[in-house]
Amino acid sequence: MEWIERAPAKINLTLDVLYRRADDYHELEMIMSSVDLADYLTFTPLEEDKIEVFTNKAFLPVDQRNHVYQIIKLVKERYNIREGMLVEIEKKIPVAAGLGGGSTDAAAALRALNRIWELNLSVQEMIELGMQVGTDVPYSIVGGTAFVSGRGEIVTPINPMPSCWVVLAKPRISVSTKTVFRALEVERLDYIPKSRIVADAIEIGDYKGMADNLSNALEAVTFERHPKLRQLSERMERYGMDGVTMSGSGPTIIGFSQNYSRAKRVYNSLRGFCEEVYITRTLK
Ligand code: ATP
Repeated sequence: MEWIERAPAKINLTLDVLYRRADDYHELEMIMSSVDLADYLTFTPLEEDKIEVFTNKAFLPVDQRNHVYQIIKLVKERYNIREGMLVEIEKKIPVAAGLGGGSTDAAAALRALNRIWELNLSVQEMIELGMQVGTDVPYSIVGGTAFVSGRGEIVTPINPMPSCWVVLAKPRISVSTKTVFRALEVERLDYIPKSRIVADAIEIGDYKGMADNLSNALEAVTFERHPKLRQLSERMERYGMDGVTMSGSGPTIIGFSQNYSRAKRVYNSLRGFCEEVYITRTLK
């Protein structure tokens, strides 16, 4: 028997870095939401005790380095499961993009394993397991629109963000999350945290209040290192998107519009300028 699980991409409407903690992690506040761009994972239980992962992207690792492999291994060890699992990942979400691709795959695997192996895990138990694989996994377990804090492990669902079109532009630039966080001098950030403002706007369905307050504390440092990202962001604003920001640690730049023809126009105009461009909708 086969089991199919959908793994939607996430976007960051905000990413606030509040301070550096004693354990050297940064304390974060973020608003995340899911969009209608997803990977599909097909699970086939095996009698033999082994883990096999396949994907349609030849450059992705399918061994212990793959987040899906890691979560299966963790679950098998924790619950002493002697059966095996074969997973085929159909990747549609761009990799290393700030769209949480690996994390959403890991979360989808946890949801699927919970059903297939009848583990009866609560959301909180899945969050604890997921956190060991990646900081964005807890959000992906819950999904929807959420206020995410701590290092990413505290996920509070809020109302769904007002429905709109989202243009995603991912240039072929590789951003090192570690380097960007290291370069951040949090104490000197000339920056007002926006997550609570955006959460309040979403709670009352205020699309404009949401779009006007999108922000990402990593943007300035990242734009300095990769000027093409700043150009991309400015271009999206000039072309008429209602709000533009970088998602996660980038390099994907996202723009919102409630008007499909405008979003489509921006999508068309960016295609010569940026390697990968998508037009998608918000998910409830
Ligand atoms: P985030 O937004 O959570 O920081 P991201 O979108 O920037 O994530 P991913 O697409 O999750 O980045 O990929 C980050 C790294 O994780 C890649 O270098 C990739 O090799 C590795 N990886 C492991 N498993 C997966 C997977 N199932 N899908 C995508 N990447 C994976």
